[in-house]
Amino acid sequence: MTRTVQSPTDHVVVVGAGLAGLATALHLLGAGRRVTVVERDPTPGGRAGRLDLDGFRLDTGPTVITMPELVEEALGAVGEKLGDRLELVDLHPAYHARFADGSAIDVHTDPGAMEQEIREKVSAADAEGYRRLRAWLTELYRVQMATFIDANFDSPLDVLSPDLARLGTLGGFGRLGPKIGKFLGDERLKRIFSFQALYAGVPPAKALAAYAVIAYMDTIAGVSFPGGGVRALPQALADAAADAGAEFRYGTTVTGLERSGGRVRALRTVPTDDPTADGDRIAADAVVLSVDLPAAHALLGRAPRRAVPLRWSPSAFVWHAGVPAGTGLGHHTISFGDAWAGTFDEIITEGRLMSDPSLLITHPTATDPSLAPAGHELVSVLAPCPNTDVAPLDWERVGPRYRDELRGVLAGRGFDLGEPVVQHTITPADWSAQGLAAGTPFSAAHTFAQTGPFRSGNLVRGEGNVVLAGCGTTPGVGVPTVLVSGKLAAARITG
Ligand SMILES: Cc1cc2nc3c(=O)[nH]c(=O)nc-3n(C[C@H](O)[C@H](O)[C@H](O)COP(=O)(O)OP(=O)(O)OC[C@H]3O[C@@H](n4cnc5c(N)ncnc54)[C@H](O)[C@@H]3O)c2cc1C
Repeated sequence: MTRTVQSPTDHVVVVGAGLAGLATALHLLGAGRRVTVVERDPTPGGRAGRLDLDGFRLDTGPTVITMPELVEEALGAVGEKLGDRLELVDLHPAYHARFADGSAIDVHTDPGAMEQEIREKVSAADAEGYRRLRAWLTELYRVQMATFIDANFDSPLDVLSPDLARLGTLGGFGRLGPKIGKFLGDERLKRIFSFQALYAGVPPAKALAAYAVIAYMDTIAGVSFPGGGVRALPQALADAAADAGAEFRYGTTVTGLERSGGRVRALRTVPTDDPTADGDRIAADAVVLSVDLPAAHALLGRAPRRAVPLRWSPSAFVWHAGVPAGTGLGHHTISFGDAWAGTFDEIITEGRLMSDPSLLITHPTATDPSLAPAGHELVSVLAPCPNTDVAPLDWERVGPRYRDELRGVLAGRGFDLGEPVVQHTITPADWSAQGLAAGTPFSAAHTFAQTGPFRSGNLVRGEGNVVLAGCGTTPGVGVPTVLVSGKLAAARITG
């Protein structure tokens, strides 16, 4: 039995309508709680955000969805089905990878299609290696999901289980890069199946092999895109929660918590667009804070003591452009530079922009053309970059130059994106302005000391009725993981 907050828990106030807060709300509603969701923005989604520009409908966060069964589970908590709320289009291929030598490999999630691609573009030996890699990734996922991802921990000892031993046997505590190299010889394939470590904020050479589980989600379980854009996901969850009885207060910022008798009794709020106006007070039996971890600690007025300060993931520079139709791009292209290990050093430890960038190019209108006005397309380019702790760059000055530099790099690699009719960049300074620690949307890195039972927990010592949710807490960063975090937070309340 894991710990739960003390009763009463009849009315729960969830702070934040990002994916974690929304999943929390749905699971609480399913367990019969009255739920109020307070969100500072006018719409749900948080980091799975949206921006409308001259008829172009941009997603400012994730560009695809993985593990839709977790969405199904959240909606299922209130008796709903994913198919009634969202139209998911599976992406085939999941990615198109282009390399500095001009070669290209499509990443298929179908085993036969991927083996054939590798046999044709690489070698029969690597096609056989891929088959073994796929079996390993699948087993790794199976072992990790129940025990290490979809689980509340009260102590690191909670992970002592047969699955921990199995994870060790599978080589999960070795290093990711070398482990992938045991299956695949081709350098391009090694990159395709290990670059995901960056999502965890760690270079493949240093990441735990256990993090190959992200490659499982991406390259095996499959990726899909909702009609209407990724924003349709938080909207669907919010609509389902509202229909199940949740009260949503958008445009409302929580500024403080009122305590008595060791419990939070109420939240103080102000209108986001008029913070000096008279605020409101919302009484609560229990509170879930799904805001960025330091923001949660600020509201609580305390942060748990850590022997070593938190290490934050690298950040992202994102350039969105509305361009004339005709780019010829698929939904997802990864343009790999020639450099590799050095690229991770530049952005993670040296605090420099990538000298030979690897870039994620997303073309959502390849799947849903209605996201751009007729005759136009949407393209966004994500460049991993240092967070503001590692490199406090003057982004107002650097941003426009870096955007132009990236356009030049892409043109040099043969990507003809045309002349933008609208464009918008998001830099680490913008993530900072949203209150995200170290100017990164990817939260605390998944180093060993910030992973599993060592990651900031969702219960805060000394807080009788407060639970944390979201990417800063367990299990971690990413769409699937924050949906799980919402479920785990709700379980801390409902038992
Ligand atoms: C550019 C980008 C690309 C990404 N790509 C991927 C990807 O490919 N795959 C993947 O799995 N993940 C990806 N992610 C990560 C993923 O989007 C996040 O991990 C996840 O959405 C975080 O959800 P959350 O609920 O924890 O936090 P948030 O979405 O930040 O939710 C917190 C909410 O709280 C609100 N809030 C904050 N303070 C207050 C307050 N005081 N009062 C009221 N409300 C408040 C915020 O407005 C926000 O809505 C990406 C993110 C970005 C930005």
